[in-house]
Amino acid sequence: MKLILLGAPGAGKGTVAKMLTKLDGSVQISTGDILRGAVQAGTDLGKEAEGYMNRGDLVPDSLIMGIMEGRLQEDDCKNGFLLDGFPRTIPQAEALTELLTKLGISLDMVVNIDVPRDVIFDRLCTRRTCQNPECQAIYNVKSNPTKVEGICDKCGSPAIQRADETEEAIAHRLDTYNEKTAPLAGFYDEKGLLKTITGTSSDLVVDGIKKELGM
Ligand code: ADP
Ligand code: ZN
Repeated sequence: MKLILLGAPGAGKGTVAKMLTKLDGSVQISTGDILRGAVQAGTDLGKEAEGYMNRGDLVPDSLIMGIMEGRLQEDDCKNGFLLDGFPRTIPQAEALTELLTKLGISLDMVVNIDVPRDVIFDRLCTRRTCQNPECQAIYNVKSNPTKVEGICDKCGSPAIQRADETEEAIAHRLDTYNEKTAPLAGFYDEKGLLKTITGTSSDLVVDGIKKELGM
């Protein structure tokens, strides 16, 4: 399947994407994971992106398009992909349309995962992320804690609160989402690609997507 997952930070895009990869071998492409990996590895990309990310601002469109142009042409995308956290602005969406046309790829659907703001805020404040760039497993101190506090169950690396998960940065990320990313729903609705799924359970969101794709 070739999908875009839209939704506010904390809506469950990453969790849903990981569940979908198990269904048909599509790969999850998370620009957030790629950028965090680059920050940790100390690459030029990471150095450029880090300040924006820690403040909860978006990284410039040109950097993101550079990443995605290469990533979508890798072999593992042939079986399908789930775009998680990209596109995030109208210019990114327009550039993506152009890129997909150039590569001869068409999207199946754009899924808008709609979750109430209070649920989102609470989730983000209690989220913990594995620091190992190869793993980046996600936990929640309330609903899905690590077996040993602060240690990833899967790989044993520290599972910590992200630098952009202070209350201040979270509030800023949600405002940025409303201003810059929420308009993408209208953009894809006009193209007849949008499907909005309301719900706080990732299992139900996945069921809704399967049904929509006739799986
Ligand atoms: P979340 O969905 O929880 O906000 P992500 O992991 O998707 O987190 O993104 C973390 C940060 O990485 C964002 O706040 C932003 O700074 C940067 N980022 C990720 N994807 C994009 C994108 N498509 N465009 C611009 N910045 C991005
Ligand atoms: Zn881990």
